[in-house]
Amino acid sequence: MVVRPADSASNQPLLEVVPLGGLGEFGLNAMAVSYADTLIAIDAGSMFPEPELLGIDLIVPDFSYLRQREARTRALVLTHGHEDHIGAVPYVVKQFAGPIYGTPMTLALVEAKLADHGIDVADRLVPVHPRDRITVGDITLEFLRVTHSMPDCMAVALHTPVGVVIHTGDFKIDQTPLDGEQFDFHRFAQLGAEGVLALFSDSTNIERPGFTGSEITVVPAFEEIFSSTRGKLVVTSFATSVYRLQILVNLAAQFGRKIAFVGRGMVDSSQLAQRLGYLSIPAGLAIRESEIKSHPAGSVVCLVTGSQGEPMSALSRIAINDHRHVSLTPDDVVVFSSREIPGNERSIDRVVNHIARRGAEIINEGIKHVHVSGHGSEEELKLLLSLVRPRCFIPIHGTFRQRSRHARVGERLTRDLPNRVEIIVAENGDVLHFDKDGGRMADKVPAGRVLIDGTAVTGLGDEVLRDRRHLAEDGLVVPVLAINKQTGALEGVPELITRGFAIEQGAESPLREASRLIAELIESASVEERTDYGMMRDKISVELRRFFRKRLGQRPLVLPVIMEI
Ligand SMILES: [Zn+2]
Ligand SMILES: [Zn+2]
Repeated sequence: MVVRPADSASNQPLLEVVPLGGLGEFGLNAMAVSYADTLIAIDAGSMFPEPELLGIDLIVPDFSYLRQREARTRALVLTHGHEDHIGAVPYVVKQFAGPIYGTPMTLALVEAKLADHGIDVADRLVPVHPRDRITVGDITLEFLRVTHSMPDCMAVALHTPVGVVIHTGDFKIDQTPLDGEQFDFHRFAQLGAEGVLALFSDSTNIERPGFTGSEITVVPAFEEIFSSTRGKLVVTSFATSVYRLQILVNLAAQFGRKIAFVGRGMVDSSQLAQRLGYLSIPAGLAIRESEIKSHPAGSVVCLVTGSQGEPMSALSRIAINDHRHVSLTPDDVVVFSSREIPGNERSIDRVVNHIARRGAEIINEGIKHVHVSGHGSEEELKLLLSLVRPRCFIPIHGTFRQRSRHARVGERLTRDLPNRVEIIVAENGDVLHFDKDGGRMADKVPAGRVLIDGTAVTGLGDEVLRDRRHLAEDGLVVPVLAINKQTGALEGVPELITRGFAIEQGAESPLREASRLIAELIESASVEERTDYGMMRDKISVELRRFFRKRLGQRPLVLPVIMEI
């Protein structure tokens, strides 16, 4: 039984806020806000693993805090549809029974994600709109429109018995949003005038001076690129950056190019956005991947997935000349209309080098203004703080360095105000208690990361337990192979080391088959692919998992080790 926090003198319940993720890393955004018997979870994000985390597909927050309060967890509110806010929804839906609130765009993305996991909770997905108010137990939720790099994003104001708490979600202040849906300055200011107890605000871009700029500021650079490119134009960005997709659709129409969405993420996202009315494509402008080659290169623009150098993405395939429908020539231009997410630099660099080998020109945000961030810079963050003027200010989203800078900026901005603003730099798992007069750090609960691989859908528990459970049930297979660095040829016979994995040995052992399978895989790959360590590792791991599942009905952890000699 988890004790409810209460004021020792008056015995009044206290408001408890616990960041469960997103403070200290890029991704995993999740927070719990509770008063008496009402607990509201805000966002459930994931992040992609660093390359060192062999065999891991996804990282999600540790939700044990929610699990221990299952009966009290009344709703999940999703601020917007980015992976770092909805990616862990499949892992949290079973932790409580209540509704999941989000805008139509957010919920459509969640629904697709849940379908991928074979989870159907359609009756719990409740669409809401900015300015809607919904009462859940002791808390009334109010949604406010914010602008970001995708449509339909919200902040949430929680009206609680001890005061109003605002969670900004991700935002920037785009004063000329492509869809005309303005940032709700009025309501933020109104709430500020009425009195806000606590503001939890996005810190991602606090280290950038000035204003971030509107989504439409990328148009001039793209106009230049469209008019100067003789061959194909290949643009990669996040599939959910619907504003960016709309800008490129508009330019394609203006410059007489057909547009093709390449890669599952792009195809799905563009269809979803079209269906919901967030993306409009003139009739006859879009062509299928398979039609690209039947059009002159100079009259096509391809929007492709893979901006972070993901090894199995469309762009990675195109880069090594292994895509069925798109190949690059020296007349073509490849534009990275995206930022490098920290940790992905090496993978992106690898892809860029492959593209350069094809002779195509590469343009990224360092060369031309082809990307604009979705997060507000220092001046926007200050503006919001001034509008809301909360009693307590807690920077969220970002590393400690960014959050402490946001705290410092906030302190400078507010120190001369008549009512002092209390600034709290919290970490994941810090328990914050609030009464009418302010907040304080009260306790610490377990919070952290849970590593998931493709086979462990319910992979909750801490990371060591998860690995142990997996190893205990299914064992471990480590294929060890050596590849010639120059030719990419296999040196010797791949060896498979197994642990805790029941398998017969000898001449006809399935391990021999697996070893042959690896040799065939490498033979059938192109030289570029073979010398691409990350891509081969993924490929071997996927194929061997499939092999062991089909052949033996087992799901061992597969961790390929490739030596370059
Ligand atoms: Zn976002
Ligand atoms: Zn985010």
